[in-house]
Amino acid sequence: MLYLVYSGGVNGTGHVWIYCIPPVSLFLHGLKRGLLEVFIFILALVYILFFISSPFDQLGYHHDLKSRIVYSFILIAFLSTIYEYISSRFNQSLQELSSKLELAATTDPLTNLLNRRGLEQQLKNKAWYKPSIFLLDIDHFKSINDKYGHEYGDEYLKLVARSMTGFLVGRECLLSRWGGEEFLLVVDLQNDHEKFAESVRNLIENASLKFDESHEISATVSIGISELGATETFLMAVGRADKALYEAKSRGRNCVVAAK
Ligand code: GH3
Ligand code: MG
Ligand code: MG
Repeated sequence: MLYLVYSGGVNGTGHVWIYCIPPVSLFLHGLKRGLLEVFIFILALVYILFFISSPFDQLGYHHDLKSRIVYSFILIAFLSTIYEYISSRFNQSLQELSSKLELAATTDPLTNLLNRRGLEQQLKNKAWYKPSIFLLDIDHFKSINDKYGHEYGDEYLKLVARSMTGFLVGRECLLSRWGGEEFLLVVDLQNDHEKFAESVRNLIENASLKFDESHEISATVSIGISELGATETFLMAVGRADKALYEAKSRGRNCVVAAK
C-alpha cells in the first residue's frame, strides 16, 4: 500500500487502496496491535507524501490533496476503531453471558453442586478406569419438610452438600445433586467401597443443622453402590446403584448396600 502511494499507482489511483488498511488491521489484530499498525502506517504515509520526492509528485497533485489523503485516512481509522471497540465489547459480554449460562445449566442453584447434566458432562473428561458410583438418598426427608418447613429442608440439603464437599477435599471424585434429596457421588476408587460409603453415611448421621438455639435437624442416609462395568454405560451403572439403594431402604434405611 505504501508502495502504491509512493508510485502513484495506475493513473495516480494508488492512494485509493490504502483505506482498507484500518478496518482489516483492526479486525485481524485487535484494537491494540491494529491501532499500532495504523499509527505506524500514518507516519510512513506522511513521510512519503510530504518528505520525500516520489513519482507521485510527478503526477502533479496539489499539496491539499496530500493533506486530504491523510485526513480522510485518519477519519477511516477513527471510525474503524469505534466499530472494532463496540464489536469487541459486544463479543466480550456475549462470552460472559455464555459462560454464565453454561454454569447455570450445569450447577444446582441450591447447593452449588453439579447437577445431573454437569456431572455427565464432567465425567466425559475423566479418564477413570472403573469409577465407583454412590447413590445417596436422605431417609424420611419429607418428614423434615413437614416438621420444620421447606425452608429448613433446603438448609439441611445445603448442610449435607457442604459436609460432603469438605469430606471429599483432595479426592478424585465428582459430587452432584442427582435429584430432590438424592446425591450421586462418582469416585475413582478401586476397592474398599463399602468402607468408604460407611464413612459418608456416618458423616451425614453426625451432621446436624442447629437453629433458634434449641432446634436441631439431623437425618440419616441410605446408600446404593455400584462399580462401572467394562461393558455398561454410566446410566446403566447408576441404575444398578439405584436398585441397591432401594434394597438399602427396604432393609430399614441408614445403611449401605452394594449392587451385585
Ligand atoms: P425415603 O426414606 O423413602 O427416601 O423417604 P423420603 O421422605 O426421603 O422420600 P420421598 O421421596 O417420599 O420424599 C422426598 C421429599 O424430598 C419430598 C420432597 O418435597 C422433598 N424435596 C425434594 N426436593 C427438595 C428441595 O429442593 N427442597 C426441599 N426442602 N425438599 C425437597
Ligand atoms: Mg428420594
Ligand atoms: Mg429420601
